[in-house]
Amino acid sequence: MKGKIFLDAGHGGTDTGLVYHERREKDNVLKIVLALATLLTEEGFEVICSRVDDSFIHEQSKHEKMLDERVDCVIAFHQNCALLSDTAEGARAIVWNKEGLSLFLAKKLLEGMKKIGFFILGIFEDKYNDELKRNKIPRVVLELGYLNSEKDYFLFDQFFDQIVQELFHAICSYWEEQKNEIMKHLYRIQVGSYYSRDRVLEKSEELHRRGFPAYYFLEKGFYTLQVGSFEQLKTAVEMEKQLRNYGYTTFIT
Ligand SMILES: [Zn+2]
Repeated sequence: MKGKIFLDAGHGGTDTGLVYHERREKDNVLKIVLALATLLTEEGFEVICSRVDDSFIHEQSKHEKMLDERVDCVIAFHQNCALLSDTAEGARAIVWNKEGLSLFLAKKLLEGMKKIGFFILGIFEDKYNDELKRNKIPRVVLELGYLNSEKDYFLFDQFFDQIVQELFHAICSYWEEQKNEIMKHLYRIQVGSYYSRDRVLEKSEELHRRGFPAYYFLEKGFYTLQVGSFEQLKTAVEMEKQLRNYGYTTFIT
């Protein structure tokens, strides 16, 4: 199972968002979200959308949903419109925290948009959503160009599928990064380090027979044998005790 991604198409219903002639922000962002949701779902992600049709969803109920569902990240889609046409262009990202996973996700999304040809306005910080910040849910608002920039609109219109592909790849790299981050913060019990693969296999099988969730990986020419990966240090300590009862020499990493 891959991550749980919350896609938020901005505006909807009576809230049209920005409008320029026949171009409507609410329609464009919904199109993006629906296409992206399809790709992500096919890839094995669980996708939750704030809306899948032209309806208005209150911000508060979106936030409740994000928190209830314990989503891994939130991406909200919007577009811009300048006071005068063709006076501004480009894509930008807004995060609540210009560090860690939020920043990583914003960078990846913008890198993709740069490949499409959008001018990159940068990553901006907006501290408005304290609730998500408290719950450490990375959230990026992505503004996909200006409705009244002919260049941006050409890109949006002609390269729609490529835009969706780039967003998809950005989310995939984000998920890899998040997995690594999670692993870094888990407690694992190291049982040994071996030069020989046969030896690590033998030890690993022995641990399995005794009911321990053992696994090994190759690191700097040695096979490292570990048991479990726990969010709580006390759970790791409990298991370490059981391992030591069998006579294993261990440490928690
Ligand atoms: Zn908007």
